[in-house]
Amino acid sequence: MNAKVFFFFLLISSWGQTQVVDSSRIEFFKEIVYTLADDSMRGRATSSPEETKSLDFIASIVRRETKGKLKTQCFTIQASDSTELTSKNGYVFINNHAKETILIGAHYDHIGMGGKLSLSLKNNEVHNGADDNASGVALALDLLNHLKTVKSNKNYLFVFYSGHEIGLFGSAAFADFCQSKRKLKNITTVINFDMVGRLDANMKRLKCMSSLPNDSILSGTDAAKFGLNIFIAEKEKLDQLDTKVFHQKGIPCLNFTTGIHDDYHATTDDPKYISCDGMLLISNYLLDLIQKL
Ligand SMILES: [Zn+2]
Repeated sequence: MNAKVFFFFLLISSWGQTQVVDSSRIEFFKEIVYTLADDSMRGRATSSPEETKSLDFIASIVRRETKGKLKTQCFTIQASDSTELTSKNGYVFINNHAKETILIGAHYDHIGMGGKLSLSLKNNEVHNGADDNASGVALALDLLNHLKTVKSNKNYLFVFYSGHEIGLFGSAAFADFCQSKRKLKNITTVINFDMVGRLDANMKRLKCMSSLPNDSILSGTDAAKFGLNIFIAEKEKLDQLDTKVFHQKGIPCLNFTTGIHDDYHATTDDPKYISCDGMLLISNYLLDLIQKL
């Protein structure tokens, strides 16, 4: 075989391997989104049995993919009707024995049967929340699979928040938990995903709300190389998301989203509308970005 033919084969076989890896990651996104947003999960309302079932499913994925354990943090919520709810955040710490930790989070709860949080006319039906936020959970899990295996001078703390939809309770409780363990000061960046499953096939626009002191980090990663257009959105929105508690403590935060759509908080936020191809582009981009932070 001459050198040219050899390199051609090398190129074809590495391209073939990339295709296999990509298609298995797309299948992975589908598995997560279709399971969490299945009707049997009844919309994953905070403190519901189906929310517990959702967290058990996330734990089973962490175990299967990384041999690691999803730990849980229990907390209570004082609901507006003065009832008390209990719920759980899930988290995985990747300890690279570094001083600094990057927290990567996504809420896994949704609005259950809708009720007053529904924007649908049918507000007593299952609201699957495929984009909001099964997509964010799937993206975080894919990043966990990768960051678990790379050498890094940062630790990674992956968190799956409950209590988001009824008032950002899970992230607030998790920040308290970190503070009680004197670990909050080690968190140097918070990255959050909320609704990342609707990348427009033409515009390829990924919105980012950022309070990084230096946005050159964002422009430093060439998003176009990953097939994306980054659109910097208002950072005030960080206070309406699970970044709020960290942002208000002065920790640099980033939130990524593919944006609001007509199915937001509606009974039609279904898995069939999720772009798993788009999520793959986003994940590849974020892997590059996170390792540059
Ligand atoms: Zn959400």
